[in-house]
Amino acid sequence: MFCVDVAINLPVKSLFKQFTYSVPENMSFLDSGWRVIVPFGAQKTEGFVVRRRELADNLDKLKAVEAVLGDRPWFDEEMLATAQWLSEYYMCSLSEAMRLFVPGKTSIRRSAVRDEDGRLLYYRYEEKLKEKTVLAYKISQDGYAFLQTGNDKKQLQRQLEALRLFAEKKGWLSLQEVAAENISSSTVRTLAGKGLLEEGKKRILRNSYTDMLQPGNELLLNDEQKAAFKQISTAMTEGSGGSFLLQGITGSGKTEIYLRAAQQAIRQGQQVLVLVPEIALTAQLVKRFQSWFGDSVAVAHSKLSQNERGDVWHRMRTGQANILIGVRSAVFAPFARLGLVIMDEEHESSYKQEERPNYHARNVAVERCRHARAVLILGSATPDIETYQKALQGEYTHLRMTKRANGSELPRVEIVDMRLELQQRNFSVLSRALKQALVNTAADGEQAIVLLNRRGYSTFVMCRDCGASIVCPHCSVAMVYHSSNEDMRCHYCGNTMPVPAECPACHSKRIKFFGTGTQKAEQEIMALPEVRVLRMDQDSTMAKFAHAEILSRFAGGERNVLIGTQMVAKGHDIPNVTLVGVLSADSMLNLPDFRASERTFSLLTQAAGRAGRGSRQGHVIFQAYDADNQIIRLAARQDYDAFAVQELADRKELFYPPFAQMLKLTVWDEKEETALTLAQRAVNYLQGLQLQGELQDLVIMGPLPALVARVRDLYRFNILLKAKDMQPVKNALLNSEFKEQRNLYFDVDPLSVI
Ligand code: ADP
Ligand code: ZN
Ligand code: ZN
Repeated sequence: MFCVDVAINLPVKSLFKQFTYSVPENMSFLDSGWRVIVPFGAQKTEGFVVRRRELADNLDKLKAVEAVLGDRPWFDEEMLATAQWLSEYYMCSLSEAMRLFVPGKTSIRRSAVRDEDGRLLYYRYEEKLKEKTVLAYKISQDGYAFLQTGNDKKQLQRQLEALRLFAEKKGWLSLQEVAAENISSSTVRTLAGKGLLEEGKKRILRNSYTDMLQPGNELLLNDEQKAAFKQISTAMTEGSGGSFLLQGITGSGKTEIYLRAAQQAIRQGQQVLVLVPEIALTAQLVKRFQSWFGDSVAVAHSKLSQNERGDVWHRMRTGQANILIGVRSAVFAPFARLGLVIMDEEHESSYKQEERPNYHARNVAVERCRHARAVLILGSATPDIETYQKALQGEYTHLRMTKRANGSELPRVEIVDMRLELQQRNFSVLSRALKQALVNTAADGEQAIVLLNRRGYSTFVMCRDCGASIVCPHCSVAMVYHSSNEDMRCHYCGNTMPVPAECPACHSKRIKFFGTGTQKAEQEIMALPEVRVLRMDQDSTMAKFAHAEILSRFAGGERNVLIGTQMVAKGHDIPNVTLVGVLSADSMLNLPDFRASERTFSLLTQAAGRAGRGSRQGHVIFQAYDADNQIIRLAARQDYDAFAVQELADRKELFYPPFAQMLKLTVWDEKEETALTLAQRAVNYLQGLQLQGELQDLVIMGPLPALVARVRDLYRFNILLKAKDMQPVKNALLNSEFKEQRNLYFDVDPLSVI
């Protein structure tokens, strides 16, 4: 008799352990990877079978598995292994890790099953979509043996060739696929007749390949692109995997490499996962893939309903689609035969989930590729410094493209010192140089992008008499005035309130707005002659397709200036943009976070990269108060390597990633005292272990109040841990009372340490 261990699919932190159930006779096929319904407490719930094992004892005490979901296991070996790794690495339960792979409860239909009194018994689950199959063949043991004998009779050549193909591809091949390799169906049947091939069934791939592979518009790769593609292509042919950092400046034509690699994967009968930071901002990339691969492209953005997501997953699993383009969570999609993963703009922070389990899609992708022997391409003009270091050390193959693909020049970058502007009594948020440049650009019929990384109208509201600024009653941050609704908003909790008529502290009526956000900058730019401005920030993109709509209105030339937050700096390729202005290039540099320089450098470089992608050279203006800052100067030169040398030296000296691994513990509570006490207890625990001679290379910083010490009435403290190898520290914490503490949160490899 055997039983199964089941991870319960409930979002409960304390469900670290699995539960054992007996298996009714009619489900004797059950094995790891299946989704099941099991009784759990008073309810019935979904679970994932983690393993099947023999049970010596009698099974009477065990509850039995109630029902099976679907007609095959949801998790294959590679997904199971990745989930297992994820739970250990990111310090979450196996079921939390596994439920990431399940698109809600939706590739299945659910209906309530009730007893005669109408009481709910359980839900019945059925797969929504049915698979189709075709005849397929696979090499048998005899076939392998036959190849081994080194038979070289002339009349057997064809058959040997065919056998070698089957040996190389290993899996099931349909006659259609074999025909694509110039092997006739009669050869295949002959081999099957001799028992050298097994005959079976294979799921049909509806929109499958060959005739689809005519690229929408064929560009000849330049030498740099050819060299980069060749290495990727070779790895793909060899089939043993491998990771590449494709470091190519903005406009160097990385997309062309992605497309060709994807094409090769499909020709090899494999599937492709393309990860992008945000679908809304990558409409161009999606279109490019669709023009090459038509219906075999499936898209998974974060606004898909659970149902739609379930359908997309199903198309990938069944091989009905070959290319999945999606955001972070698409890294968990099931594949029939994953051969290539492409991660565009791999440095983007949206690849990290900021809630539990706080995985990074890049790490997950690396892990999946390792198990699937798939090739991984990480693309960026400004790679994450940790990725870059791995490329330097040879863990990733380093591919570089240093020229713009269409021959256009990099933009000319100018740094404007805003202190001088003040001295010259220019109190506008726009420097004189930028104003002039905007006016000229508009007059020449060209377009401009202006970046200001603060939304709203003002950045704080303050009393002129007593200097008190108005803070959110629930968070320790200033309220931001928004002209669109003429109210103040908290950017942390969303709380809104009207601007008070008088100062709450001293009753003065002299309340004033300070600092400039996108709304106020928009107003100033609007006043310039011939300028028609469009704003893109969180406030103007609430609606479902607002991003794409704003970008396409701008690209279509309806407006000539686009102002907005970070999102205006990313990804798009609009040839008529010849001017880019960054209003406070140094604003992010002062954050007390060791990644401040890296973020600033990459944002400025990406922003500058939007200019002059057409035939005219671009012009970029960085406005800064700290105009001599080294990072800003390096960004102006677009010199990633010089930046990286300096940044890596600093990180090494200060023992930060990539030289250390980090773990952040955040503790919160309504009472400041309680939060601090718990945080201190965690620190004491770790220090205690150190006193016993364990965790010797661990560096403990904190507890420190979070930069915004209170959010939504909760006080927050951070503890930052650094170590060469964090695993022993994680283990120590998982073996302690802190593992299941409600008010304590682990962030493995935190992107933000404040
Ligand atoms: P990246 O993603 O590296 O910023 P893109 O892939 O968007 O760059 O390419 C930038 C521009 O260069 C696009 O307009 C693209 O069509 C063009 N391009 C890419 N490769 C070539 C090539 N080999 N010859 C001519 N133009 C190219
Ligand atoms: Zn006052
Ligand atoms: Zn608030």
